[in-house]
This record gives sequence, structure tokens and C-alpha cells, in this order.
Amino acid sequence: MIASDLHDGVNRLGDMIAAARAIVPFTGAGLSTETGIPDFRSPGGLWTRNRPIHFDEFVASQEARDEAWRRRFAMQETFAAARPGRGHLALSSLYRAGKIPAVITQNIDNLHQDSGFAPDHVIELHGNTTYARCIGCGQRYELNWMRERFEADGAAPDCPDCAEPVKTAPVSFGQSMPEHEMQRATELAQHCDLFVAIGSSLVVWPAAGFPLMAKRAGAQLVIINREPTDQDDVADLVIHHDIGEVLGSFVRN
Ligand code: NAD
Repeated sequence: MIASDLHDGVNRLGDMIAAARAIVPFTGAGLSTETGIPDFRSPGGLWTRNRPIHFDEFVASQEARDEAWRRRFAMQETFAAARPGRGHLALSSLYRAGKIPAVITQNIDNLHQDSGFAPDHVIELHGNTTYARCIGCGQRYELNWMRERFEADGAAPDCPDCAEPVKTAPVSFGQSMPEHEMQRATELAQHCDLFVAIGSSLVVWPAAGFPLMAKRAGAQLVIINREPTDQDDVADLVIHHDIGEVLGSFVRN
């Protein structure tokens, strides 16, 4: 059912949260737009400006790697300045209250960890852009290290240990999903009684399969997004409003 207005949505959600034992949030880029990080698909979103670079292209071409890193450095000020928004803080309040065992996220911005979730309780389906890894040996590199070398050589450096390319840690299109995270997300989706999809267009698969999985396993499903999604008709509650406004009333200090 679609909430008739913001007040109705917040009230219904409040009742569902109060009755739930285990709430699993599933978050997308819309959760972070109020922190200044654009999403992909909204007007002005990242895809209206840049075509995504596929993994095979990144591996095969120095030019593609240079372009990928130039884009990442161009976003650095935005990512570095972002602080958890009202949605993040509401979820961390419910986490501290013992209602949320862990969050499943498509986001790569580290803001759930910054809001107080233990790193082990943030299931990052699409990785994390706040650091980089060698795609060969897995060695971690910090962005400042990459930037210094990029600026000195005018090209993205390879791993000094194994000479394979170094990439920010998000999962690119064409790259396989992280197995351990998929497994943990599956367990969480199947063992919660309330699953809340927040700020995701629910079109990126396989991640978009988790709300349906939770629903099939018996959880109630809530979708909070300012636009309709393809899964609205299976949800128990749909709130078409701004996430910060909806979740702001659930923030506790
Ligand atoms: P998406 O861009 O496809 O969808 C975001 C959805 O959130 C849209 O439907 C939009 O209408 C809605 N939305 C945006 N701001 C909102 C607000 N304030 N209140 C309510 N709704 C709002 O994002 P997605 O579904 O997460 O998929 C895109 C992929 O992009 C993800 O895989 C993610 O890895 C990546 N991404 C991440 C970030 C980030 O980490 N912050 C940013 C951009 C893209």
C-alpha cells in the first residue's frame, strides 16, 4: 500500500519498526543525496554526465584507467566532505537500539561506517570507493598514494608488488559480485521480519533481488523512494517522499 502522505507514511513505518524484532535496511544512492553525493539515475546524477567504464575496459586499457582515476579524483572533495545524513543517523540509532543486526548497502561511500555501524555490520554489495586495491594481489592502497603518483607520472600507476592495475574498491560493471557479501546479504534477507529498501531505483541486479527474497521468506517489505520502483506493488508499505524527511523522526542521540 502507498502511504497517503508523509505523516501517514511515518506513522505506519513507526508501528512496523516498533513491532519488528530484526530489521534489515537495504540502502541505495538515494540515501546519500542529501549529503551532497549525487546518485546515478536522478536528473543531474552521475550517469547523465559519464558513461560507466566496464571492468574489461579498465583492465585492457591504460587510457580507460587514467579516465577512471581522473573521474574519481574529481569526486574526491565531494566524498571527503560528506557526513552521514538523517537517514544514516536514523539507521544507526536503530542499530544501537538492537533492532538492526546489519545493513545491506549498494553504496560505496563509507557513510554507514561513519554513522556508527561496525564495519563488519555493513554488507557492501558493490564495494567501497574510499580506498583502492590491486586487482591482482589485492593489496590495499590509499587514494592519496594513487593521486601523488598519478600527478607525478601523468598516468594511473600499477601495483608496485605485482604490476597489475590498481582500482578503487567498488565493483565495476562486468566484474563479479563479492561472494561472501552476497551470502551474508542472503542470510539477512531470509532471517529478518522487516526489510526496508531505501533510496534505490531497484534496477541494478542481482542486488535488486534482495527485497523480493526477504518478502518471499516472510518479511514485511517497506520501500522508501521519492520515485516509484518496479517493486512497489509487492511492498507492504511504499513511501514516496524525501528520505531525510521520512527517517529524520527516527534519529535518537
Ligand atoms: P540509483 O541512482 O539507481 O537510484 C537512486 C534512487 O533514489 C532513485 O530512484 C531516486 O529517485 C531516489 N532518491 C534520490 N535521492 C532521494 C531522496 N533524497 N529521497 C528519496 N529518494 C531519493 O541508485 P542505486 O539504486 O543505489 O543504484 C546505483 C548504483 O550506484 C549502486 O550500485 C551504487 O553502487 C552506485 N552509487 C553509489 C553512490 C554512493 O555510494 N552514495 C552514489 C552513486 C552511485
